[in-house]
Amino acid sequence: KKNLIIFGTRPEAIKMAPLVNQFLKDKRFETKVCVTGQHREMLDQVLNFFDIIPDYDLSLMKPNQNLYNLTGEVIAGLKPILESFQPDFVYVHGDTTTTMAASIAGFYAGSKVCHVEAGLRTHNMLSPFPEEMNRQVAGRVATYHFAPTIKSQENLLKENILKDDILVTGNTVIDALLESSSRVENLKNEDVVSLKEKVNFNNRIILVTGHRRENHGQGFINICAALKEVAIKNLDVEIIYPVHLNPNVLKPVNELLGDIKNIHLVKPLSYPSFVWLMNQSYLIVTDSGGVQEEAPSLGKPVLVMRDTTERPEAVEAGTVILVGTNTDKIIKETQELLDNSDTYNSMSSLHNPYGDGKACKRIIEFISKL
Ligand code: UDP
Repeated sequence: KKNLIIFGTRPEAIKMAPLVNQFLKDKRFETKVCVTGQHREMLDQVLNFFDIIPDYDLSLMKPNQNLYNLTGEVIAGLKPILESFQPDFVYVHGDTTTTMAASIAGFYAGSKVCHVEAGLRTHNMLSPFPEEMNRQVAGRVATYHFAPTIKSQENLLKENILKDDILVTGNTVIDALLESSSRVENLKNEDVVSLKEKVNFNNRIILVTGHRRENHGQGFINICAALKEVAIKNLDVEIIYPVHLNPNVLKPVNELLGDIKNIHLVKPLSYPSFVWLMNQSYLIVTDSGGVQEEAPSLGKPVLVMRDTTERPEAVEAGTVILVGTNTDKIIKETQELLDNSDTYNSMSSLHNPYGDGKACKRIIEFISKL
């Protein structure tokens, strides 16, 4: 059987990497990888770490890339690849423009589309941001749905997807994390050396990431105001913020937080450096989906800077608190976790609802039986 695994951004690459590597080792399958290059530098860092050399690279990253171009170019760029390789199965992941466009291309080619990280929903199709549309379109087009949790399976069942076509697997991000954790324990690469020069690691570390379109503009202004206040009030805390390369994020963050002594703005870290840093952190403040899935496995509480979430499991389990982009709420919850060890301990000792590191094994088992 022939597999074509398609992805384009850093988080998709992290979450697909263990699947690629396990499929490549399995001689029952011929597996090829196509990257769209929706991200470039951040994608390549992940490919390097996991030793993945794509068979095809659409190299679609351009300055001021927009969703119209990207969608069209992914579909058109995949046509010759799909026609020559003729995969039985096309794998897409999550909710990006690459996901949505590649699932449509896979459908046109007559391949069975397999959606990894299927069934996440906000149910807000009126949102101007594309993720919910992307994941719903991929869900309609896909034949097989690999749902990370029971809740995501339930979302798919409500959309009349047949139970036999859904498999609850856990999230492949935990497979990637567990595989990497031991490799990064004594990491001494450039990122780590440079962080150790700048930051006093005897202090408590707050790790921050943020990139979502829904937070661009006022959201990031509020987030920066909160971080500034936390830094000024807690001089014994170090805030490390690997800033996403999107100019809508980079510009306000550099302007508002550029010269505060205990805030360290750094370039996005390679995945191993980031996993290392999560491990060194006391607390994580983020709007990232992947980070809130990873952090509970490392025992780190997470404040999520979003008002809604397609990942309610962590909020319900108590490993995550939604703080939105409300400056006062971010400050209040951060201070509580800094000051109250009971609150901190109860959040950091909980079970991770997103999986056990065996998601890829389950997916391969399922496909091999078809
Ligand atoms: N990550 C990374 N370097 C960084 C920040 C995050 O490698 O500087 C990783 C992180 O471990 C997680 C993924 O990137 O697996 C999350 O990506 P992002 O927040 O961009 O996207 P989302 O998960 O929200 O789709």
